[in-house]
Amino acid sequence: MPLLARTVTTPLAIEIRRGAVAELGRLLADRRISAGGVVAVVVGPGQGARITELIRPTLGSADVFTVAGGTLDAAVELGAKLRERGYDAVVGIGGGKTIDTAKYAATRYGLPMVSVATSLAHDGIASPISSLAHEGGRGSYGVHIPIAVIVDLDFVADGPEHLTRAGIGDAISNLNAIADWELAHHVRGEPIDGLAVTFARTGAEAVLNHPGTIADDGLRTALAEAHVLGGVAMAVCGSSRPASGGCHEISHALDHLYPDAAAHGEQVGMGALFCAYLRGDPRLDQIAACLRRHGLPRTPADLGLSEDQFTEAALRAPTTRPDRYTILEHLALTPDEMAARVKEFAATFQDSGSAHG
Ligand SMILES: [Zn+2]
Repeated sequence: MPLLARTVTTPLAIEIRRGAVAELGRLLADRRISAGGVVAVVVGPGQGARITELIRPTLGSADVFTVAGGTLDAAVELGAKLRERGYDAVVGIGGGKTIDTAKYAATRYGLPMVSVATSLAHDGIASPISSLAHEGGRGSYGVHIPIAVIVDLDFVADGPEHLTRAGIGDAISNLNAIADWELAHHVRGEPIDGLAVTFARTGAEAVLNHPGTIADDGLRTALAEAHVLGGVAMAVCGSSRPASGGCHEISHALDHLYPDAAAHGEQVGMGALFCAYLRGDPRLDQIAACLRRHGLPRTPADLGLSEDQFTEAALRAPTTRPDRYTILEHLALTPDEMAARVKEFAATFQDSGSAHG
């Protein structure tokens, strides 16, 4: 009997709506994740108090841990605390740092992890990867995909707009990651996973073509779904390939050279536009229009960088992921060629208004 299908591991529950944090206890019980509420709730320092107050009525017996910093050390320390009581699950509530810390600690001690996102700044909310600071750099660590993904749109709506905007950049950068993957497949015979491509591209296309603004729950929902699909795409193929190409290599290089220049999603969105430009991508104008519509950076100047600074990052980018073949490795531009392309690129997109203007 031939194998007619494959089984993929996905979260058991996805809930994207307002008021999700306040009903967390019921949700965990309904989904048989925890009937008695013996869970470890992990919050960040910023919103920890508001979240703790909201969950108390339905999750009275939960232990609440506050973690800060999004570091590997904080995740290991949290893991040690999780061993002290027989928890049903670890619930990480917050933004990327808190969720990545909780994901890592839960995986280390074999506990299911519930991801409760209060921001949509990047695609880590449902991914099998934790990005954590360690010894002066950032590491990406493979972890188990969350057992449930909950997005509370009340928190997203109340939170800083630039976080939601950045999330749009991360979501649409998947189009570039997929184009890089297809290139590696054609040029070097790298295996490509059509199911992972389908998930990642569907989410990115929905965001790219959504007519709403970040003030609409419709767009916020499409963005949250794109992040969920991106996370499942990574879990399906066991790699960040469907969500990370030359766009992310450029962002990693920017992180090394000019820490805190801009948010991850702002950097990868602009990196995706630059890679699409180098590639002569037929979607270039659509990507540029989407970034412009949502006030995202499109040129080095929009990121607060000179053309020379951005050129240096683009040249360094391939060294950040030596095993990943993208348009940057494919073209292998010399420093002079790269500087010329960056100059043309900046001139092409600088006239139609600054992202922050
Ligand atoms: Zn990303």
